[in-house]
Amino acid sequence: MFGPPGCGKGTQASKMVDKYNLCHISTGDLFRSEITGKTALGMEAKAFMDKGELVPDSVTINMLKLKMQSLPDVNGFIFDGFPRTIPQAEALDNMLQEMNEPVSKMISLKVRDEELVKRLLMRGEASGRADDLSEDVIWNRVRVYNEQTLPVASHYQKQSKLVEINGEESIEAVFGEISRILDSL
Ligand code: AMP
Repeated sequence: MFGPPGCGKGTQASKMVDKYNLCHISTGDLFRSEITGKTALGMEAKAFMDKGELVPDSVTINMLKLKMQSLPDVNGFIFDGFPRTIPQAEALDNMLQEMNEPVSKMISLKVRDEELVKRLLMRGEASGRADDLSEDVIWNRVRVYNEQTLPVASHYQKQSKLVEINGEESIEAVFGEISRILDSL
């Protein structure tokens, strides 16, 4: 699942888990659970997350590798919020090549920047999530996405794996389109 913060990746991923029995891996969730556990990794990540910056690639890739090694056999993985940089995409491709299980599709949810900021401020009010509380931090995350993460879409477009969906449709309409894609795999 690909797209800017607030585009609905997590919401759609949890619906995919229910319908297709897939394993959902969100690097943002993994970092937040490390922060809750007050681990060294969590403390390192928090300094970047609080500013709306990306956690360094080496830290993120190692955490993801450990997580995947700890998982039992599943139908497949949904990566949510990963890869966010070209080095992360290359590391993921290499890892999956070793497992003989390449990325099947990149599903990208497109939402305008102003709509994202509105959604994230609402999410912050409801959840208290630290990086959703400040409009400055939210805009920085959107900027970081546009500058550092968008190139990852071209990486998978070159592999003919990119599918784009209008993320401003209703949750059910977006899920309908995602289901059609997954049913075809
Ligand atoms: P998310 O929950 O996906 O919105 O991620 C929240 C924050 O966690 C991001 O703003 C980053 O600071 C950090 N983060 C999550 N995933 C990654 C990643 N793949 N690479 C670098 N930083 C990440």
